[in-house]
Amino acid sequence: MVRTDTTSARDRTRSKGGLSFEHNVTGDDGQRRITIHQDVDPADGSRITTAEPDVDTLAYDARPTAPHIPGSGERYDTCGDPFHGLFCPDCAATQEVGQTCQRSRCERCYKSWCFRRAKTQVAKLESLRHDLEQRESGWQKFHHLTVSFRPDVRVRSDDPVKQLRKITQALLDQIGVEHGLAVFHNYRIKPEYCGDVFGHESGDGDLNWCNILSEKLESEEWPAAAVYDEFLEYAPHFHVFAVADFVQCGAVTKQIADDTGVVIHRISDDDGKSLETIEDLAAATMYALSHVGLKQRGNSYRACYQAFGRLANHAAEDWALAKADDACRETASDVLGLSLAKPECDAHIEPATDNEDMVTPDDTDDPIEAMNSSGLGPTTATSSLRSSTASAGTGHRTDTSRPFAAGGDQTGLLSDVPDWINEPICGETLTQSTERCGTTMRPIRCAGEYLESVDWCETIDEGRLDGLKDAYTEYQDLGKPEPVDDPPPTDVDTDAPVAD
Ligand SMILES: [Zn+2]
Ligand SMILES: [Zn+2]
Ligand SMILES: [Zn+2]
Repeated sequence: MVRTDTTSARDRTRSKGGLSFEHNVTGDDGQRRITIHQDVDPADGSRITTAEPDVDTLAYDARPTAPHIPGSGERYDTCGDPFHGLFCPDCAATQEVGQTCQRSRCERCYKSWCFRRAKTQVAKLESLRHDLEQRESGWQKFHHLTVSFRPDVRVRSDDPVKQLRKITQALLDQIGVEHGLAVFHNYRIKPEYCGDVFGHESGDGDLNWCNILSEKLESEEWPAAAVYDEFLEYAPHFHVFAVADFVQCGAVTKQIADDTGVVIHRISDDDGKSLETIEDLAAATMYALSHVGLKQRGNSYRACYQAFGRLANHAAEDWALAKADDACRETASDVLGLSLAKPECDAHIEPATDNEDMVTPDDTDDPIEAMNSSGLGPTTATSSLRSSTASAGTGHRTDTSRPFAAGGDQTGLLSDVPDWINEPICGETLTQSTERCGTTMRPIRCAGEYLESVDWCETIDEGRLDGLKDAYTEYQDLGKPEPVDDPPPTDVDTDAPVAD
């Protein structure tokens, strides 16, 4: 039987047994095509071949780019608007926080986006590390590597960044890295501006990515396009966070660089250790995701990072999620400038019975000052939403100029908690001097299951229960402020296997 070849040109190239890319030959007009033959043993010298591109074949003309970075877009009108985003699972008091859209491009919410994404990946990596140790014995460690391509690299693909990641994976196979997370960076900071940057050679300057993101992109003076032009240059590379017992470097990576022009570097300290603790991993992952390449598709943006090997389908266990949450919280303020204290309920255990002594700082232009001088002890919880609305017109709730955050995370993530969150925001009575509650607040979206529990509702003060119900309705009416247009990347690689 004659087999009709219906595969696309791209598949046919693949079925010839390799992943290919091209770049120019230094000091020459020529071009070089490098092919990694995945059907050849990684230890075999003939796995990588180079050739002059055949003029008859289709051109390798796709540049791997993902030219946007987190925080470089506009915020939604509602980002930062206060709503009753937190509640206390013990006493039902509610707390106001700003709404967070959780989009990577949002100038206000990208840090919180970055924190969440990093947390998930760190948990998966930790959980897999544990699994591999159990199954394969031997000490499994985290490693941070960079895989850098030449800026003139070209592939033939309708998804060039993905193709570059596959090439990266194939090369990493040769040094013993099979499972990990690959984060694509489109840019590096120009050498004349670059200071000490995680995982890269430092240049003559003193800027790192925190400066680029926080001081340049967030400032009025620097439109995003000007930041790209002035400080950044195209330099496609991946940061890889891997789990492995041993990573081969030295002669092997040098050979790869000679054969392919691709530079693989394992980032380590003077003792040769790469990422010693889960906190090290959390910090490096958050840092890498803070300037991950974003690719536009229609109105949404896709962050170019992907788990590979066993990590792709590995689901983190709960203990690993908790550990990752702690590790990310601990390092987020250094890496992202994000304050992530777990919010506690500050309500009085004895709720207010009426509002007659309520203080509303009406007669000042500066509500924050008014709060501070009001003589109230710190409290953020409202005894009920109804009483809190009594002070809604005082202005302090419309102060959206400070970066602050929202709930909305199962574990009670709060990013950028504003200073004023520790100040009274509504009417607790002056006469109260009872003990504060102190329970860790939960995101309002979890309130539904509490409100459905008759047993739980019976233990709650009626006024506070009403307040919580109102807050939950408000949350639903607002359209459940949640992640919108930036769905997590699929962790399952759905590509068809490479044909033989
Ligand atoms: Zn409470
Ligand atoms: Zn936002
Ligand atoms: Zn980088």
